[in-house]
Amino acid sequence: MTSVYLDHAATSFPKPEGMSQRIKTYLDTVGATINRSTYQRARDAEWVTYSLRKHLAAFFHFPEDPSHVILTPGATYGLNLILKGFLKPGDHCLVSGMEHNAVMRPLQQLSQLGVSFDRIPCDLDGRLNPADILPLLRPNTRLVMLSHGSNVCGTVQDAAAVGELCAARGVAFALDAAQTAGHLSVDFSAFHLSALAVPGHKGLLGPAGIGAVLLTPAFARELDPLVTGGTGSVSDSELPPLCLPDRFEPGTPNLPGIYGLEFSLQYLETVGLETIMAHENALTAQFLQGLRGLSGIRLAGISGPAGRTGVFSLDFPGRDNAEVADELETRYGILTRCGLHCAPSAHKTLGTFPQGTVRFSLGFSTTAAEVDAALAAIRAVRKA
Ligand code: PMP
Repeated sequence: MTSVYLDHAATSFPKPEGMSQRIKTYLDTVGATINRSTYQRARDAEWVTYSLRKHLAAFFHFPEDPSHVILTPGATYGLNLILKGFLKPGDHCLVSGMEHNAVMRPLQQLSQLGVSFDRIPCDLDGRLNPADILPLLRPNTRLVMLSHGSNVCGTVQDAAAVGELCAARGVAFALDAAQTAGHLSVDFSAFHLSALAVPGHKGLLGPAGIGAVLLTPAFARELDPLVTGGTGSVSDSELPPLCLPDRFEPGTPNLPGIYGLEFSLQYLETVGLETIMAHENALTAQFLQGLRGLSGIRLAGISGPAGRTGVFSLDFPGRDNAEVADELETRYGILTRCGLHCAPSAHKTLGTFPQGTVRFSLGFSTTAAEVDAALAAIRAVRKA
């Protein structure tokens, strides 16, 4: 039985042709780290790392110097850096009712240290109304942090409207684009962002273990490093350097990840985000059309194709969702993810807590035939 991979919201698969070879070439023939040594192979690693920062800056319409593109081990690390590095005791932060635990767990930790937060309410589709932010703002609100696209149901927030509102009130705005980077346009300037966190291994099609945080100079100046250590720079001092990216990148970085992500970003640029969006939008419409009128399922969140990504959460009333996911794999080869998807807050908003859902998530490599196969399997496993 061939399998149909519909777990792209967890991590994308397969990776672009040639990426594994690029990583192998680095491991076999370069093998050097950056910022320390000056021989040619180390300069090769320097150059690729700089090129990755430039590609990330271009991809996200980042108007600042590429030195403000900080490479991280992933989105989780980046979100922790933003929250724990920026918020101080006495500060207040706003998040949506759709956040991932990569945001909520650091915030809950911070709340033990005197940081307070409120959730901007979202409707049953998981969408917030930017106007609802105004009454929640306090004199000590320093940060609004939002998940751009829901990892549970694909709902996309109006980041441009929220950014404009934050900019007008001098509140920093940070975006978790874990589910939209590489799927939708994430425009640092148009969204009036102070900070953006992305993983490399989802829509950007890179390997796991690498991601990035993009920071305005003003936000970076107010950010404390999460981890400190050797940077290969300002080595006469035992204090972390002030210069970027070094201040936020201690230790030896994930060079295989850097080479892999630099490769996949070039691939994305060649293909073009417009092409990716057109393909994923067509699959999204096909999937939703196939679900229309089907008894024995409940789709969480938005039922139409607009304002969403290709992430779908289904509840199968009358059936155990974990058993459904297992049957989808063992009988039909459909690979999904069931449960709460590390986002209990989102499930509470959507009315799917605590039972969770079976999540089907599309990617650029998904085909129309695969969507049809998933729909046929859904029809077969539901309790009609
Ligand atoms: N935020 C959201 C919305 C996510 O979906 C994820 C990944 N599931 C993360 C943050 C964390 O990303 P990573 O696991 O790559 O660090």
